[in-house]
Amino acid sequence: NFQCASFTQSAPSIRECPPEQGLEVAFAGRSNAGKSSAINTLTNNKKLARTSKTPGRTQLINFFDLSDTTRLVDLPGYGFAKVSRQLKEQWQENLSEYLHERKCLAGLVVVMDIRHPMQEYDTLVINWAIEVAMPVHVLLTKADKLKKGPAQATLLQVRKSFKEAGVNDLVTVQTFSSLKNAGLDQLKQTLSGWLTG
Ligand code: GDP
Repeated sequence: NFQCASFTQSAPSIRECPPEQGLEVAFAGRSNAGKSSAINTLTNNKKLARTSKTPGRTQLINFFDLSDTTRLVDLPGYGFAKVSRQLKEQWQENLSEYLHERKCLAGLVVVMDIRHPMQEYDTLVINWAIEVAMPVHVLLTKADKLKKGPAQATLLQVRKSFKEAGVNDLVTVQTFSSLKNAGLDQLKQTLSGWLTG
């Protein structure tokens, strides 16, 4: 039940994350891709992921409990043009460490604006997940911004790129719209599969 998600804590680094009990699913994405909206749509809670957008908290890992043993995790958004090199390096170190070392992480959702899919950092994050055989679900969100044809063409193109890279057993892709609640069942199904192990 994704509706009972509640904020539990923020962590500035992997050392301050909650104990590795149960299973969690993490959300990553470029800033402004629609990650907070997707989390809010999934949990049917318009305010849930807002906390993580407060400037200064953007580098934190935010945890939302679904039950005693399952969690959603909102990872820091990336791709800010104005961020210093030092902060970018810190972000890379944190995220890479989280994906490589967090044993209770069952899968990673990577949220992309369907109009700008597979940017440099998206690929970087997905590659870190693939390195540790972590399943990835790509959410091509804001699908309502494109007509059906172009949205479907983007979906097929992104899927094809994973097939050509030989990682289509680990990576799934879907279209999504927080505005229209479209693709919600497919997202829930993927996450439920991961969270029940
Ligand atoms: P985040 O920075 O990745 O958390 O992005 P947000 O969820 O805050 O969304 C960034 C902007 O895109 C906001 O203005 C949202 O209202 C808008 N947005 C997010 N999802 C959708 C969507 O599915 N459709 C449309 N049309 N706009 C969206």
